[in-house]
Amino acid sequence: MNILLASNNSHKREEFSRLLKAHTLILPKELGLDFDFEEDKATFTENALGKAMALAANAPKNMVVLADDSGLCVDALGGGPGVRTARYGMETFGRLLESGERNLFLLENMAHLKEPSERSAQFVCALALVADKHRVFTFCESVHGRIAFAAYGKGGFGYDPVFFVTEAGKTMAELTDEEKDHYSHRGRAARHLITLLGEIA
Ligand code: IMP
Repeated sequence: MNILLASNNSHKREEFSRLLKAHTLILPKELGLDFDFEEDKATFTENALGKAMALAANAPKNMVVLADDSGLCVDALGGGPGVRTARYGMETFGRLLESGERNLFLLENMAHLKEPSERSAQFVCALALVADKHRVFTFCESVHGRIAFAAYGKGGFGYDPVFFVTEAGKTMAELTDEEKDHYSHRGRAARHLITLLGEIA
């Protein structure tokens, strides 16, 4: 199936290409579509749905539209940064931080929490698929872990070096691509999506 991905994030595209091997992923810019969406809703699911609906309004009729909204929910931060994960640190620094800077800022803010159990967190991924205006599907999945005491590993992107996956016993950035797909919030959500795509094809 041809899937138009409502994203300009090359890392997400790479992960979805691995996860959805049987399908063809297309980015808006490859169709000459200018796509931008303000993620200002209270939940990941609402943001993903908003993104997918906005792009679907301009998408070719033979394509389904997929959007992902994901982020980190840290229990000690009251579930934050949550839907503001990409903008974490912006209020303090007055600008959007690079991912390495954001990771350091997070580690600094958690430095007083010395016990692993005080550092619990979830990585969350909401997916929205719009097949047409009356066939709209959402999923929200997560992986449990904790914020590591330092950054470890070189794989993945974003917060991967500071997110320790309990079940894997390593940070996301220490996992191989196959392992990340197995354990990650996006991998989990994508497996629900694969089942759905098989049913609506
Ligand atoms: P958004 O879904 O594009 O708004 O991304 C939210 C934030 O979460 C960005 O800062 C991403 O870098 C980060 N993020 C989303 N998914 C992952 C992941 O799989 N690993 C690490 N960081 C991620």
